Amino acid sequence: MPELPEVETIVRELRPKLKNKKIREVRVLLPKMVALGPATLPNLRKTRGSVAVKFAKTLKGEKITDVSRRAKMIIIDLAGKFAILVHLKMTGQLIFLDRKHLDKKIRLLNIPSITPVSLPAKPTHVIFEFTDGSKLFYNDYRQFGYLKLVTDKELPYVRELQDYGPEPLDKNFTFQAFEALTLRRSPSRAVKLWLMDPTIIAGIGNIYSDEILYFAKLKPTRVVKSLSAKEKKRLFQGIKKILTDAVRHAGSSVWEFVRPSGNWGTYGLLHKVYGRAGEKCKVCGSIIKNMKFNGRTGSFCPRCQK
Ligand SMILES: [Zn+2]
Repeated sequence: MPELPEVETIVRELRPKLKNKKIREVRVLLPKMVALGPATLPNLRKTRGSVAVKFAKTLKGEKITDVSRRAKMIIIDLAGKFAILVHLKMTGQLIFLDRKHLDKKIRLLNIPSITPVSLPAKPTHVIFEFTDGSKLFYNDYRQFGYLKLVTDKELPYVRELQDYGPEPLDKNFTFQAFEALTLRRSPSRAVKLWLMDPTIIAGIGNIYSDEILYFAKLKPTRVVKSLSAKEKKRLFQGIKKILTDAVRHAGSSVWEFVRPSGNWGTYGLLHKVYGRAGEKCKVCGSIIKNMKFNGRTGSFCPRCQK
């Protein structure tokens, strides 16, 4: 599942490509992938078919003015009228091809044995065609993601956007702000689950919580309120450092994460614990272990993390 570094990578790559692009047509191949905010479609019965038609019709001729991110939500702005909220959930992908490279073959899973394909492919559900001939493809193997069209006026009231906690890479997210969260928000929870709660801190999932806890030398099961001042400092530094490094390496291509260019993120090669259970810790040589709790698997070094 894409986390903050992957979604940030997508936004950074898409912004210069999509800015000022005019939409010629939107093709919705799987109607259940698109949705409308309440103000966009007040008086129409919301069957899936009618939503898809309205979605495509509303977007036709509109111009993209910006691409941004809040937590794991991608926000595509349309000339001060509408915005498309894109949530990739488990396996969503956004791939952009310019007119000259529409036949480019792309490997949709980060598995060497997978044959590269041209788009649209089987998991392609929505296609944006721009007036300059370029295209943006929305792919989703497991179909949990969505593209939701909202009006600018309703954007501040979109539930998903209101519920997110602070952006960990924001300058305003200081140690003081972080420390206040550790005292105020679910201090009795295991630190891994705490980090992964998007209403406490936005954008951290399974991969980066594992890597952050390894950096901070903390076992995933440690209860937040048991952390000393020093441990909290290390945890905070870990959040900033690991997420910043991962963005710099364009995220981790674990399975389905493909960048809009069709390339992969390389941070996965630098993982210290995530996906390395059974292998040796790069620092102490102990075997990395998996631990299951609350339906989640965490990987950690039993010697380095206490
Ligand atoms: Zn170790």
